[in-house]
Amino acid sequence: MARYTDAVCRLCRRNGVKLYLKGDKCFTKCTFDKRPQPPGDAARGRRRKVSDRALQLREKQKAKAVYMVLEKQFRHYYEEAQRREGITGENLVRLLEMRLDNVVYRLGFADSRNQARQMVNHGLIAVNGRKLDIPSAQIRLTDQVSFSPRGQKSELFTVVKDNISRKQVPGWLSLDPGQMAGRVLAKPTLVEAEPLFSPNVIVEYYSR
Ligand code: SF4
Repeated sequence: MARYTDAVCRLCRRNGVKLYLKGDKCFTKCTFDKRPQPPGDAARGRRRKVSDRALQLREKQKAKAVYMVLEKQFRHYYEEAQRREGITGENLVRLLEMRLDNVVYRLGFADSRNQARQMVNHGLIAVNGRKLDIPSAQIRLTDQVSFSPRGQKSELFTVVKDNISRKQVPGWLSLDPGQMAGRVLAKPTLVEAEPLFSPNVIVEYYSR
């Protein structure tokens, strides 16, 4: 499966913004807080005029980094967002938010999307009671997301269960901490999704 192999903190430095890719570490020992300049000696201390096109590209790169999606799949999301009724930028964010790995992360079952993806890949997650090991699977309204029987036997399950009450779940999801199961109540609005990038600028990028 294609994935980013570059050190994830470099993505924050390259994009000039904290993208929160490493869970708790992002709030305690953040590399970007210490070294916000872009990686590479040549980039240090140099100010360049940035074109509109480069700014649009940067927004796309941020979105790809946040959801750990490579170019081909990201373009597929954009094309699907364009086909759907409504505002393309909002549709794009919804498609990304409704990925199974993102829902696992948003429910507080994982500290980061990267960890959520690993949990899904390892068969620790179930949708509507059946194991689903495809991180990009689109979750639908009313779907229930929980730990699979294998996931419930994992050490991680106990850790997550002990800490789940401290997690904040966005309004478009509901969580039953006793059952360790969550449900999708609605598709997220842009405000709820709080994207770290501008979806409209990404639409401009692809519209050229
Ligand atoms: Fe980005 Fe988190 Fe690394 Fe900070 S710790 S640079 S927010 S991935």
